[in-house]
Amino acid sequence: MAVSAIHTHQIPLPGGTDPAVFTAVRHNSYQVHVTGSEPVAVQRLVAEIAGRRVALVTDDVVADLHAHRLVSQLRAAGLQVQMTSFPAGESSKSLDTAWSLLDWLAASSIQRRDVVLGFGGGVVIDTVGWVASAYMRGVPYINVPTTLLGAVDAALGGKVAVDHWCAKNLIGAFYQPKAVVTNVGYLTTLDRRQLAAGLAEVVKKGVIGSPELFCLVERSVDDLLAGDLAALEQVVAAASAVKCALVAGDPYEDDLCRPLNFGHTVGHAVETVTGYGPVLHGEAVAYGMAVATEIATRRGLLDADVRRRLLALLRRMDLPTRLQDLRQPPKPAEVVEALQCVRRIRDGCLRFVLPVGLGHTVIADDVEDADVQQAMADTAGPAEPAGS
Ligand code: NAD
Repeated sequence: MAVSAIHTHQIPLPGGTDPAVFTAVRHNSYQVHVTGSEPVAVQRLVAEIAGRRVALVTDDVVADLHAHRLVSQLRAAGLQVQMTSFPAGESSKSLDTAWSLLDWLAASSIQRRDVVLGFGGGVVIDTVGWVASAYMRGVPYINVPTTLLGAVDAALGGKVAVDHWCAKNLIGAFYQPKAVVTNVGYLTTLDRRQLAAGLAEVVKKGVIGSPELFCLVERSVDDLLAGDLAALEQVVAAASAVKCALVAGDPYEDDLCRPLNFGHTVGHAVETVTGYGPVLHGEAVAYGMAVATEIATRRGLLDADVRRRLLALLRRMDLPTRLQDLRQPPKPAEVVEALQCVRRIRDGCLRFVLPVGLGHTVIADDVEDADVQQAMADTAGPAEPAGS
């Protein structure tokens, strides 16, 4: 079939001074399916793939636990699926891994409209999303998270990146997935530590944007940590909805005042100085929230009862709220040093999200290095009792 193309654009008059204007608008909208039923999840995934070829990327742990089964299920639904995996862990969220994935895609039969499927935790999802954004100038990708943290956070919002020795997520893009399909059944093979790390991101969303979500976690924390399917489904669906609502207002982060960064300023620095490995992302965020809590308390901003409830909830999950709780406690001076790189990325200005009450934060741009060091020292004091 031949399609004709006719254009009769006018050219500017000689000597015209008006600059040409280029406008490109991309509308992104996708569904986030959350279910506790594997057959339903596969059905939704098959519908979203819509008959295209699939390049499934996972890590070695998820490959053994779940990915071979998913590949069989997709093939049984008539889809052409190729699969690859890379070593598990944050140190794989790198340019080296991205480069090998690009080589793998280039050698595969995947075409521009086919689908790359990120099947794993946040490391897989962030890396695969960035590779998908670059390959052929952008191929569609679908996130199928297998960690709680991936489900409630990394899979949603289209922030894709790999780490650099200088800073976490330094090399990345905003590139939205075609869909997110979460089967919380996958989460039942996570250990308690990984579940708690994922819950840190749920607690964060509760503090910044949903008192209801915070109370839900308080009520169901024991079931969640025990891997109870119904509790997980309820919390993942709720946290996903809250994240979608929070990101929708500013999906490309034009406004740097983002409550979602609560706990991340110090959290990312802790991950960087400890070499992306010993401290899980969610643990670093939990500690970052504790530091921001101390800064807010010193400024007289934070409601005392909310402070108590937040720290108690984190401790109930054995998440680090004190410097010495971190698996590899960094020196406060090292953390402050790592924050300099973040300052550079953010035009010299470090914005700290400080909690005030549930659903209420302020974003401060006047937090000095000394304040961070002091707050980290404050967290080295005696533990707040765990409780509800
Ligand atoms: P991860 O991807 O490293 O997974 C943690 C471990 O769990 C890995 O060893 C993995 O192999 C294993 N695993 C995965 N699924 C499993 C399962 N079902 N059962 C048993 N083990 C399983 O870590 P994570 O905590 O999922 O993600 C952390 C990453 O996510 C960080 O790099 C962080 O920066 C990123 N992140 C991104 C965003 C975003 O908006 N893009 C948001 C939050 C976090």
